Amino acid sequence: MNIDFDVTVIGAGVVGLATARALAMVGKKVIVLESNNDVGQETSSRNSGVIHAGIYYDKNSLKAKTCVRGRSLLYEYLLKHKISHKKTGKLIVANHTNSSQLEKLFFKGIENGVEELKIVEKQYLRSCIPDVRADLAIHSPVSGIVDVHGFIQSLTGEIQDHGGDIAKLSKFISAKQSKGNGQGWDIQVSCGGLDSERIVISSNWLINSAGLFAEHIASRIEGIPEKKIPTTYFAKGNYFTVNGYCPFNTLIYPLPEKGGLGTHLTLDLGNHALLGPDVEPISVDKNALDSDQPFDYSIVETRKFNFYENTLKWWPSLKIDQLQPAYSGIRPKLNQINEKPADFIIQNNVANNSSTGLINLFGIESPGLTASLAIAEIVESYITKH
Ligand SMILES: Cc1cc2nc3c(=O)[nH]c(=O)nc-3n(C[C@H](O)[C@H](O)[C@H](O)COP(=O)(O)OP(=O)(O)OC[C@H]3O[C@@H](n4cnc5c(N)ncnc54)[C@H](O)[C@@H]3O)c2cc1C
Repeated sequence: MNIDFDVTVIGAGVVGLATARALAMVGKKVIVLESNNDVGQETSSRNSGVIHAGIYYDKNSLKAKTCVRGRSLLYEYLLKHKISHKKTGKLIVANHTNSSQLEKLFFKGIENGVEELKIVEKQYLRSCIPDVRADLAIHSPVSGIVDVHGFIQSLTGEIQDHGGDIAKLSKFISAKQSKGNGQGWDIQVSCGGLDSERIVISSNWLINSAGLFAEHIASRIEGIPEKKIPTTYFAKGNYFTVNGYCPFNTLIYPLPEKGGLGTHLTLDLGNHALLGPDVEPISVDKNALDSDQPFDYSIVETRKFNFYENTLKWWPSLKIDQLQPAYSGIRPKLNQINEKPADFIIQNNVANNSSTGLINLFGIESPGLTASLAIAEIVESYITKH
């Protein structure tokens, strides 16, 4: 059998790119397939751009471990490659009625190994951040923001510098286990957008890092038992920009809500303020996932009334006419909104023929950006050992 590639990665979001980079750097011949005409066009460019500390996730979960590890790898990477970022710190605010929830969250963060966390009282908040209304808060100095576009471009450059290919307008269609010695995959790819042609490439390993499409892609990979493919539930997160003066230079979050971290204030590197994301469960016809635009990213302007009401609780001087619709992103969740938050899944070799190299990444919602280099480290180490 003629092997074209050691590893084929489906999806050029931050996670697929970070993984391809790690593998290219240990000498693997790598190709990244991306159906869009550029890298990082889906969830990876539709998020808050926050480097999370690792507070929210269950002890020993993949989310907790990869967030804490990924954060330190990410700061190191950003410094080394001179990519803009800022340790803005972050406050999670509460009042006396929900202070026990805040304390629980604080201890979760400590258990997860988040450094420098402390609880601050009203007096401290009044003197340092007089515009915030809260009785107490968790202060996380290690949280920050990053130029996501710069990070994506840097990963892309490194893959290419190490001989890897990034094939844009190249849509994964299906994969069959190679005949012959039973190792590897024959992968059908549609190349070139509208005037597409179909080609078949062969690869020892296949990594499904297709974000919102990971479940759909898995159903097109030969030999994966149906019960091994988790259902994805989609939850949209809408953002509104805050025009005019913003009195904050740190990120401000309320306590987490069902399905998300709560509508929070984040800043970009120019200190412009953004509120979001909220949580809007959406249903998507799975048959439409093959179409060009299966997701509706438009924002209903009237959602701003909810944003305003929620934000007034901790930012009483905000005016409603400061809010303008910005953009939205969609979370690939493995739980419904009312269920316990699910963990990331890094699934190894589930195809019927276990000698066939396959890794599926499911449910890579937040903190996937922060965790990307740590997820890449896990996948690279698995492939290198097998
Ligand atoms: C609203 C929101 C806010 C968030 N905020 C944060 C945050 O502040 N901090 C943080 O750490 N994380 C955050 N996240 C999570 C983070 O953005 C994601 O976990 C991360 O971007 C996922 O990257 P990915 O590479 O897995 O997926 P994606 O970026 O979605 O990439 C998947 C790629 O696969 C491609 N693809 C799909 N199907 C095919 C196919 N058939 N053939 C070829 N290519 C295909 C897609 O085009 C896409 O480019 C947020 C997420 C959301 C939705």
